[in-house]
Amino acid sequence: MLKAGIVGLPNVGKSTLFNALTRSRKAEAANYPFCTIDPNVGVVIVPDERAYVLKEIAKTNVVVPAAIEFVDIAGLVAGASKGEGLGNQFLANIREVDAIVQVVRCFEDSDVVHTMGGVDPVRDIEVITTELVLADLDAVAKRMTKTQKAAKAGDKDAAAELALLLKLEPHLNAGKTANTLPATPEEVAQMKLIQLLTAKPVLFACNVAESDLATAEQNPFVQKVAEYVRTHHDAAYVPISAKIEAELIDLPPEEARAFLKDLGVDDSGVSSLIKGTYGLLGLQTYFTAGEKEVRCWTIVKGWKAPQAAGVIHTDFEKGFIKAEIVSYEDLTRLGSVAAAREAGKYRLEGKEYVFKDGDVALFRFNN
Ligand code: GDP
Repeated sequence: MLKAGIVGLPNVGKSTLFNALTRSRKAEAANYPFCTIDPNVGVVIVPDERAYVLKEIAKTNVVVPAAIEFVDIAGLVAGASKGEGLGNQFLANIREVDAIVQVVRCFEDSDVVHTMGGVDPVRDIEVITTELVLADLDAVAKRMTKTQKAAKAGDKDAAAELALLLKLEPHLNAGKTANTLPATPEEVAQMKLIQLLTAKPVLFACNVAESDLATAEQNPFVQKVAEYVRTHHDAAYVPISAKIEAELIDLPPEEARAFLKDLGVDDSGVSSLIKGTYGLLGLQTYFTAGEKEVRCWTIVKGWKAPQAAGVIHTDFEKGFIKAEIVSYEDLTRLGSVAAAREAGKYRLEGKEYVFKDGDVALFRFNN
């Protein structure tokens, strides 16, 4: 399962968001084995209304959504790369995640102390980014010593890595993140291998005041983040209200909807946050739909049919013969598999077929 790490300075709303996310959406994630040992890890489902439409067509009662694991990574303060705060532990936790969600404070509240003085989301982003860049510089220096020796001894892979490290060092030294380095796909893969922190995709969650959520794009703090993202970062941002999400936890669905309506929104922003994380990682969904269940499967954009089949079971990939495919749009427009078949919209695809978002699939394979 995908892992996203929630980071941010103290008092920006990380824990509020994490607790709300994992408590309010926990019931929906009942199909997933829950990590109760580690209180900082929670499974959150990826909202996808399409699965519920397919449920009616497939005449089943069970929907198994896609899910992301969120990890609350506390303890980042200025100086973490030098071991301040939880320092190294914090950095080790970030190495393990696929994407980073950085919560930035965009609400003013004199009762909630801002550890850096006043509210300034761009400064906060820079504080955290600096720590991550410094940690990466350390990692690059260490690897450089190793690869230099190996490259001298004639190791070609080491020579390629060394060339990349030599490009990375001045880039990071200029305060820039690894994911903004112009790089070939091979170099991008290499950076993942080295587990550089700033090579990971980042989503900024702008935590706004409850009263600002409906008009968040006009919030000057959010606008500053938007501008920063446009000019500095290979990243995305999404406005959220951790407080609203926290208040929704104990409300029955009807009341929750009415509460949101009063605030002029459909969601606390958390659905967009989850979807955003999914999109940021270049992921998409395909479905299997039958009497037993409708299930959402997560794949990387561009994957071909056997690879897509492999997420269900490795046997599906190894013994792949054909995939029966109908698009979500065709199936829902025509109303049934039989009707789709009749209309010629039910296709048989081979090994070279590139899966599309929303494909409904059935695989034929050899055991
Ligand atoms: P963390 O240190 O980043 O984990 O921050 P917390 O989630 O513990 O939040 C710090 C304080 O800010 C708590 O008292 C929260 O109730 C408060 N807080 C979190 N989000 C909001 C918000 O959107 N508006 C306001 N006014 N307070 C918030």
